Amino acid sequence: MKINLANIKKAKNLLNKRECVAIPTETVYGIAGNAYSDTACKKIFRLKNRPAKNPLIVHYYDLKKLRDDCELNDNFLKLYKKFCPGPITFVLNQKKTSKISKIATNKKKTLAVRFPKHPVTRILLKYLKFPIAAPSANISTKISAVTSSEVKEDFGKKIKYILEGGRSSDGIESTIIDLRKKPKILRLGALEIEIIQKILKKKISININPSKISAPGQLRIHYSPGIPIRLNVKKIKKEEAFLLFKKNKINKTNYYFLTKKGNLKEAAKNLYTILRKIKKDNYKSIAVGKIPNKGIGKTINDRLLRASKF
Ligand code: AMP
Ligand code: MG
Repeated sequence: MKINLANIKKAKNLLNKRECVAIPTETVYGIAGNAYSDTACKKIFRLKNRPAKNPLIVHYYDLKKLRDDCELNDNFLKLYKKFCPGPITFVLNQKKTSKISKIATNKKKTLAVRFPKHPVTRILLKYLKFPIAAPSANISTKISAVTSSEVKEDFGKKIKYILEGGRSSDGIESTIIDLRKKPKILRLGALEIEIIQKILKKKISININPSKISAPGQLRIHYSPGIPIRLNVKKIKKEEAFLLFKKNKINKTNYYFLTKKGNLKEAAKNLYTILRKIKKDNYKSIAVGKIPNKGIGKTINDRLLRASKF
């Protein structure tokens, strides 16, 4: 896509004034604010209606700027070298001298950090004198936005500016890994765990449902299109939309397909937009067929499971 520097400057000027702007990333769009400013971070929580206890991911241009705020370690450096910029978020310890707003982290001593790959946002980060806190650009518990028009659907005039960056290439959130001690996956995401394991040369534990959830119904609702979802469905009920992994020959208006030929990355990229489309097409519920539970398929199934808790 063509890069428009005037747009990037407009976003920069607003961020310098502690305003929030929506930014494109390769995972999903984000609602960005100055991560060093309490005022800007408060605005992010208010806009998203996000609970104060859910900390924000902070986005940096590169390692050099991160050193001001976080303690780095060997596992981090290995993964940074291999995957950054890219769709992986690291939880690290903050330095005592860190300037990150306590609002962004809910006073945590840890910080989730990421280096987004999207060229527009990389230029913006290079221009700025501070890192940006940026959670996904959607109302809390709802589906993330992967285009500027989807951001507009959720926020309307409430957001001062949306920096255009086309459709997010991954279309699903980053993988979050806690690297403070033994590496631990906190959220499945766009980067496959299998690839991360190869670089660290060890099996990584997965802890994606914290605080000892004992029943499936206690899972946190998230990524919801606002209508009920049933999973692993073979036979649909009357008037349901049917979301299938791979295109088949059945040509019915209530059939939606995540991929043409069964590519998992393509399925992840299409997931949120298709869920939005089904809602817009006025269906009152969604039946989802089986989706392969490997690679990014695990991330898709994780999102759909949480969305089904509506
Ligand atoms: P979002 O930005 O909306 O994609 O969500 C960010 C995710 O990062 C949330 O699930 C947070 O709980 C998680 N997160 C942010 N900061 C931390 C942290 N310091 N430790 C653990 N998880 C974090
Ligand atoms: Mg989110």
